[in-house]
Amino acid sequence: MVDLNIFVSGLLDDLASIQTSVYPRRAYERAARKIALLPERLSSSTILPDVGKTATAVIREVLATGDSTTVAKAVAQSGRMPDVEQRRARRDGFMSLAVARLVLEDASLEGVGLADYRGDFQMHSQWSDGQRSIAEMALACADRGYSHMAVTDHTDGLAITRGLSTAGMSAQHRETDAINEATAGKFLVIKGIEANILADGTVDVPQASLKTRRPYCVPQLVLAAPHSKLDSDENQTSRLLRAVATPGVHILAHPSGRKFGKRDGLQVDWARVFAAAAAANVAIEIDGDPSRQDLPYALARQAFDAGCLIAIDSDAHDTDELVFAEIALAHARLAGIPASRVINTWSTKKLLSWLKR
Ligand SMILES: [Zn+2]
Repeated sequence: MVDLNIFVSGLLDDLASIQTSVYPRRAYERAARKIALLPERLSSSTILPDVGKTATAVIREVLATGDSTTVAKAVAQSGRMPDVEQRRARRDGFMSLAVARLVLEDASLEGVGLADYRGDFQMHSQWSDGQRSIAEMALACADRGYSHMAVTDHTDGLAITRGLSTAGMSAQHRETDAINEATAGKFLVIKGIEANILADGTVDVPQASLKTRRPYCVPQLVLAAPHSKLDSDENQTSRLLRAVATPGVHILAHPSGRKFGKRDGLQVDWARVFAAAAAANVAIEIDGDPSRQDLPYALARQAFDAGCLIAIDSDAHDTDELVFAEIALAHARLAGIPASRVINTWSTKKLLSWLKR
């Protein structure tokens, strides 16, 4: 089945990439994202979101003819065809929210489904680069029917976001305790952190806090994720091997670092990384951010076959992004991964005992 929404989203991303000034580039990028996140497949009856005149014309053209001469001409005139072709190759294996929902509704598939999903383990609050308070994220998760969630703000090693220091983490944990007291067992916020996997594979979990084990400084759930050196052609297997072998790491998050149209992600011998993760009892994440979808279903299947547990997360930075978990779930369902191997389907009790392993 052709994913028309992701095809159109890609064409708008082509237009974004050939713009020479920032404003139109951002506008096309936003339009591309809106189309990828439409709840239904584009058709002549779709009420189009506010995406600007040219973007709307491109959509109508694709609906009428299956392609866009407007985009073809613009790309040809820009003289940047090689760039655009590279971007197109870097959109392989991405799906739109509309197609993700069709996958989740497809009863012929046997993998994990939406009804199995009980908690999201990657999201960001105002404590780092998120838009909402922990309480607002928790309410939105409870509204989606979850029984728990982890808030996983960035550690302060990450230059591009306002990360959490050890002192910040301690304050965040007190706030989390207050929320958990207020929900009185009906919903649980787990104290998580998204640590960076540095170029040499060390993970910047605040080690001091792990050593002193002061109750207000110890995260209950640690994601380790690569955020640097993502464009390199170098083989980075040893980087990820070291990260999954780090005591305290629970989840290898957005493992490849790939980005829609922008980069292929790390060059890694996945078989070795998955074997090491399975041995260390580290879950492999499928990150549902539409521009990440990392790992995609084929690699997620390989991780499952290697004996890994799978984590399915939204990587939401706002309440309306919690829906990204559905894109990640669709990859897991396509990969045929059963609910029992997905840590997000476990009861709170089972999850907490796994976290303390
Ligand atoms: Zn991240």
